[in-house]
Amino acid sequence: MNEFSPPLKLAFISVHTSPLAQLGVQKSGGMNVYLHELARELGRRGHHIDIFTHRPDPAGREVDGSMGAGSRVIHLALKGLPGPRSQEELFEARQQFAAGVIRFATRNPIRYDLVYSHYWLSGWVAEKLKEIWQIPFIQMFHTLGQMKHRIANRSFPSTRTREELRITERADAIIAATPAERAQLRWLYRANRRKIHIVPPGVDTDFFQPRPAEPARRHLALPPQAKVLLFVGRIEPLKAVDDILKALAQIRVLRPAVFRELRLLIVGGNPHELGPIRQLATRLALREKDTVHFLGPLPHSELPRAYAAADAVIMPSDYESFGMVALEALASGRPVIATQVGGLAHLIEDGHTGYHIPTREPGILADRILHLLSHEKTAAAMGHNAAISAQRYSWQRIGDELLAIFQRLLSSVQRDR
Ligand code: UDP
Repeated sequence: MNEFSPPLKLAFISVHTSPLAQLGVQKSGGMNVYLHELARELGRRGHHIDIFTHRPDPAGREVDGSMGAGSRVIHLALKGLPGPRSQEELFEARQQFAAGVIRFATRNPIRYDLVYSHYWLSGWVAEKLKEIWQIPFIQMFHTLGQMKHRIANRSFPSTRTREELRITERADAIIAATPAERAQLRWLYRANRRKIHIVPPGVDTDFFQPRPAEPARRHLALPPQAKVLLFVGRIEPLKAVDDILKALAQIRVLRPAVFRELRLLIVGGNPHELGPIRQLATRLALREKDTVHFLGPLPHSELPRAYAAADAVIMPSDYESFGMVALEALASGRPVIATQVGGLAHLIEDGHTGYHIPTREPGILADRILHLLSHEKTAAAMGHNAAISAQRYSWQRIGDELLAIFQRLLSSVQRDR
């Protein structure tokens, strides 16, 4: 904040998921981290941020200020909707949600300057708030339905597509995480080019920074000389964890000596979600606790240690709108082997900070893993480059870029009045 920019009051809308939710299971991942970290960054600068989200636990408290100065999470109870609910049910409850936000702001009382809405489910609410409060709204989709469903080869749910089209039309500005997302917004949703601003998510470069492997491995009871590969993320088919297991099975045949030293850590997923992956590991005779370690979902605070323990982080995703995990791995000074899709195509520089691989090619993944593990100097240089490349994404810089957009938008609205 400088002398020209008074503190802003911002309402973030995230109907279906809370920044305080447990990460790495069900639908909680990058977007939750984005909201949490951005709100903290802006809060530290003296702005006020309220993040409105659905309250799945009726006994839970409405206002949670545990995120630190300047930011609060407001959990809104929806009548008839206790417990985690489907996206369809939450969409049906959109009027009730918008009414809850308005009631909160009237009761407390607070006048927001701007609404920042996340994911398609929040757009309707944001538009309503814009109408009633006469303030602008900015949208970030995080994933676009048409992209996700194209990749998964499923038909598009029409409600989501219709909503995304409408939000694209009505939002005062749209934040795209990558140039690829901007192109998708332009071509698939006919978005006005002038509305779209490319601002990627950030990473906490003090929290995620290069750390020595040895203490981390000791903590995780891994042999110090092991070759450690790491996967972090929600367990869903598009993340292609199965390809990592298939690659390991190929390495066993190609280079048995390397295979004996290999350890794959899988972070994320509840027992139900991990069921099919465990079955595949058994079918491929990859022994648990020997080759494959299922660490389950880890609190974000424990992730620096997981990255520190790894020689490389593997992301063979079919699609990734951004890929915070890749960014955290780079900031931790670890090379990333990832498919060249969505945000991963921009985050990783092939041969410089990691390797790009084609989707669904476990043989090529195996080859790249072997190459990296057998060229220690190259791997170390890549790790060094990786940490440097992540500096561009510090939350401080991302916060500056977003605030500049917020402020430009607010002054243009004032001028038009
Ligand atoms: N994450 C975590 N604990 C876990 C699994 C994941 O803290 O057990 C975090 C991870 O550090 C990253 C986010 O969840 O910040 C996942 O974001 P990404 O963009 O990679 O994937 P998404 O969930 O958005 O598909």
